[in-house]
Amino acid sequence: MTWFYRLMAWLMLWLALPALAQQLLQAKVPGAELSGQVRYLIDDSRQRQLADLLAPAGQAAFALPGQELRTGYDNRPYWLKFDLVQSGGAGDWVLALPTTGIQDLEFHGPYDAAGQLLAPPVRTGLTHPFASRPLGSERYVFRVRLPQAGGYTAYLRLVSQTSQLYQLSAWDPAGYLASRQDKRLFDGLSYGILLALLVYNLVLTLVFRDRSYGLYVLSCGFALLTVASFNGHAARHLFPDWPAGIELSYVVAPSLWILCSALFGRSFLELARRAPWINRLVWLPLGLSLLALLLGLTFQVAMAQRLIELASAGASVLMVAAAVVVYARGYRPALWYLGGQVMLFLAVLSVVLVNWGLLDSPFMVSNGLQLGIVMEMLVFALALSRRIRLIQSQQLALQQKAGWLAKAAQTDAMTGLANRAGLEARAAQMLAESGLHSVMLLDLDGFKAVNDRHGHRAGDQVLIEVARRIKAALRGADTAARLGGDEFVVLVAGAADAVDRPRLGELAMRLQTAIRAEVAIDGGAVQVGSSLGIALCPADGKTLPALLASADQAMYQAKEAGRGDSVFFEDSRF
Ligand code: GH3
Ligand code: MG
Repeated sequence: MTWFYRLMAWLMLWLALPALAQQLLQAKVPGAELSGQVRYLIDDSRQRQLADLLAPAGQAAFALPGQELRTGYDNRPYWLKFDLVQSGGAGDWVLALPTTGIQDLEFHGPYDAAGQLLAPPVRTGLTHPFASRPLGSERYVFRVRLPQAGGYTAYLRLVSQTSQLYQLSAWDPAGYLASRQDKRLFDGLSYGILLALLVYNLVLTLVFRDRSYGLYVLSCGFALLTVASFNGHAARHLFPDWPAGIELSYVVAPSLWILCSALFGRSFLELARRAPWINRLVWLPLGLSLLALLLGLTFQVAMAQRLIELASAGASVLMVAAAVVVYARGYRPALWYLGGQVMLFLAVLSVVLVNWGLLDSPFMVSNGLQLGIVMEMLVFALALSRRIRLIQSQQLALQQKAGWLAKAAQTDAMTGLANRAGLEARAAQMLAESGLHSVMLLDLDGFKAVNDRHGHRAGDQVLIEVARRIKAALRGADTAARLGGDEFVVLVAGAADAVDRPRLGELAMRLQTAIRAEVAIDGGAVQVGSSLGIALCPADGKTLPALLASADQAMYQAKEAGRGDSVFFEDSRF
């Protein structure tokens, strides 16, 4: 049945969360895409001013792109020119770019049909303080007021260090506001989940003092910072007046995220031990992300961005391969790790497919990575708990084994009675509790002859049977031990000093009678008697060696007296 619950849990994760996100983010009043109406011009000289472009030669240089406008890694200024047509009376519009990753951005317009500029230009972007962003929005949006029916024109100058898809859209302000509310709710949920995971696992890091948990917490923190940077929230809340910080966080946060996340994977999958050659390969994406970090810190943003993409692709492929290899070698938690990686991979893949025009899911473009990161972190947290459960069960097995070994060290392997170490441990305990009444030492009579006549194996059978009979004759609190050879010891439990010779005599008789009965051996039966010495505690000795010495003397006396009997130490002295 557990597989059923697991399947349901996976389905919930895979279907419910993305469905919820899509539901939240589907614009109720969609904005109108302006692609197809936007002309563009690439400024090779990087020097062109709007005045040049307004001149007829400049105007003629604008072209219509055949398809959506993609920059690749082109960091030359892109000028966009687009026409807005107002029907009816005055109208308010919001123009929006779905990305936040633009270094420098100028908006000029609207110009009316007579070429009159109706609003002051706006200049903003990653390299400008947050206050420069119109409408206080994290993304780049521009409010446009068109005073009367007619045609208007506007221009955008865009410089980006990263690969961009410029999908400009025009919105009715109320519709745009509503869509932002939904996006805010989605962002809030994402941040909430990531923060909860971070705090929860931070506590577990302190409890378990486990490196994987620590690296998870770091990678969760940088994932959160990455999402916040891409969403513009880092710019808004963390360093609104420090443009360098805004630009830095855009590359530094993802480099650190990839770095920590690769380190987390390495530690979680125990690659150093389980797949050393993949472990060495992981240095590649680790090195790339470190380099990206350094380039980012020195503001070589474009190069850093490329390295980040290379490092993240490399780390994903390697970590997926590592998880498969390690799982195939029997490490079950690797499957959960793989699940997390696949989550992120599918999310990124869907973004790529949308960008290539193969999938129609506009919400994935600006939210796919965020969704993927949240899902990945959720599944990784589950993976960590799976791993801790495995470690706990391994520890339990080790404890059981240690307990078993400790017991074996105190047991005589052949008879299962205590050996000398076991005898000493038990005697120490009984003496400490004043619960040792007396010690009996018992040696088989003429045992050598059994060996000589019937062989060593038959002798062993006799020793095993004698041990069983001694054990059967004792109470639970008493202890029987084999010291070696044909010599056995019984620790009789009871209050010290409560000497009851008749009862002890009876016990000795019971033992000797039981031993004397025939023992079946291969191909026949033998009979052995025994001689027994008894030492009382504390009268005949206060320590085990002293008691054993007394019992030995008494036993020797019994042998001397003709074997087959029991003798008390105090009687043996006369
Ligand atoms: P006594 O009546 O004086 O006790 O003489 P005994 O023949 O019993 O000989 P003793 O107690 O002096 O020696 C014990 C013998 O038990 C010596 C050895 O051959 C034999 N023996 C010792 N350990 C083992 C064992 O593990 N298995 C078997 N089969 N024989 C053992
Ligand atoms: Mg003997």
